Amino acid sequence: MRAGMLVAALATLACAWTVASSLAAPARTIAITVDDLPFVGYGLALTGIQEETAKLLSALKRNRVPAIGFVNEDKLEVEGQFEAQVALLQAWLDAGMELGNHGYGHIDFNSTPRERYEEAVLKGEVATRRLLARRGARPRYYRHPFTHTGPTREAKAAFEAFLGAHDYAVAPFTVEDADYLFAKAYSDARRAGNAALAEKVRTAYLDHQDTMLAFFEAESRDLFARDVPQILLIHANELNAGAMEEVLARLRKRGYGFVSLDEALRDESYRSPDGYVGKVGPSWLHRWRAGRGGDVQSALRREPDPPPWVMRLVQGVP
Ligand SMILES: [Zn+2]
Repeated sequence: MRAGMLVAALATLACAWTVASSLAAPARTIAITVDDLPFVGYGLALTGIQEETAKLLSALKRNRVPAIGFVNEDKLEVEGQFEAQVALLQAWLDAGMELGNHGYGHIDFNSTPRERYEEAVLKGEVATRRLLARRGARPRYYRHPFTHTGPTREAKAAFEAFLGAHDYAVAPFTVEDADYLFAKAYSDARRAGNAALAEKVRTAYLDHQDTMLAFFEAESRDLFARDVPQILLIHANELNAGAMEEVLARLRKRGYGFVSLDEALRDESYRSPDGYVGKVGPSWLHRWRAGRGGDVQSALRREPDPPPWVMRLVQGVP
């Protein structure tokens, strides 16, 4: 009897343990946002761009990651390729991803009069809106090119009112990792047939992403005494197509579960005031620090840099 009770108790305990571990929410969450759609090719031909897009999307889909892509519609206007470029956006929707607006021409708010900058929002949503409408949806998020949110308090506030009037919300980010630098070096190496260098760059990218995640996780804990949902900003390129499975595996290893941008933004941390006004485009963690009267410049100086050898590769310095 006693032995039987013990077995039953152990069985109950084992069962409870299994349920608890399978239901345990991931300790951290992250939303994946991908800029400069349809694709930043660095000289890659259309067929290559189609293959790399399929690779990127299948990695996201296989891992059930609800990513959002931000479109520069001027990039659709490649001579003789308009339909093929639009089909790349369609592929994002078919894979279950969302699309947002990243402005026509990827122009810089710092050097563009506000009226012209606003025109680029409306000019930049035509094809995306048409694709989304077929699914009963519409573009809902805007990501500022270079994440430059306005050079003055007045310009920033006026533009955000314009976005609101057009049913757009600003898409913030908390983590970026200079993926565009690594991506240029990676694509250049591939174009040159240097597979060993491409692989070295890819590994350095994954390591730098870990470094940046650790940095912004520490910023989150410093500001909120917890891990707020992070929003990763990366770009649609060969590097992320080739690295996405490992990017996602490494994020899982850090304790992350994947959420949509909507879900990340539901966290109360995202109601914190963005107190930053200026000409660079810092993480929202830095902007929230500014909103509390903190020092953004010193926070920016603390941010880790990519390895110097990657910078030299991109600059073409031997
Ligand atoms: Zn961009």
